Amino acid sequence: MKVTQAEFMISAAGPAQFPEDALPEIALAGRSNVGKSSLINKMILRKNLARTSSQPGKTQLLNYYRINESLYFVDFPGYGYAKVSKTQREQWGRMIEEYLKTREPLKLILHVIDLRHEPSKDDQAMYDWLKHYGLPVCIVATKADKIPKSKWQKHIKMVKETLQADPQDKVILFSSETGLGRDELWLHILQACGL
Ligand code: GDP
Repeated sequence: MKVTQAEFMISAAGPAQFPEDALPEIALAGRSNVGKSSLINKMILRKNLARTSSQPGKTQLLNYYRINESLYFVDFPGYGYAKVSKTQREQWGRMIEEYLKTREPLKLILHVIDLRHEPSKDDQAMYDWLKHYGLPVCIVATKADKIPKSKWQKHIKMVKETLQADPQDKVILFSSETGLGRDELWLHILQACGL
């Protein structure tokens, strides 16, 4: 996919601020620091449009990025950050749940996981939640450059097994450093959007 235009649209606090143009939406869920912003930047080939390592857990907003005037990336606030209060966590849950349950243009969720480690309890809970709502998920296992190629398949197996991943869900190896998986992920996104 040739990205000719990518712009940050809005940090939305709730449905009243979601775009109304009905373009397909691709949401990104993952724990704080997993590499979501880097993934967005790699997908659109911009260095810094999505903010990397911005105060983990603090922004309880959905960040909308519009790509080529044809789809949105919707970046969820990262989960699993220890210093977040119970109230903030509940607020996060309500906002995400509302979005997942009701957002008509949502076409696919990229569940971003760190390929190096066994998915955390929070990762498992997030995945179960997505499946509970019957949503199409693509598991993106990122930071692949940090482990040797010979171990990739072993780690993919671990990720799938720990999450008890639905065999229908695609799993894509990714690296924001090398661009591994970028083309494959774009193909899958465009297909999910019917573009
Ligand atoms: P976010 O909190 O999920 O948005 O995570 P960031 O995109 O800010 O990434 C967190 C840290 O991981 C940063 O230091 C990134 O440079 C690093 N990082 C993210 N993706 C990759 C990757 O694919 N490979 C490597 N080696 N580092 C990565």
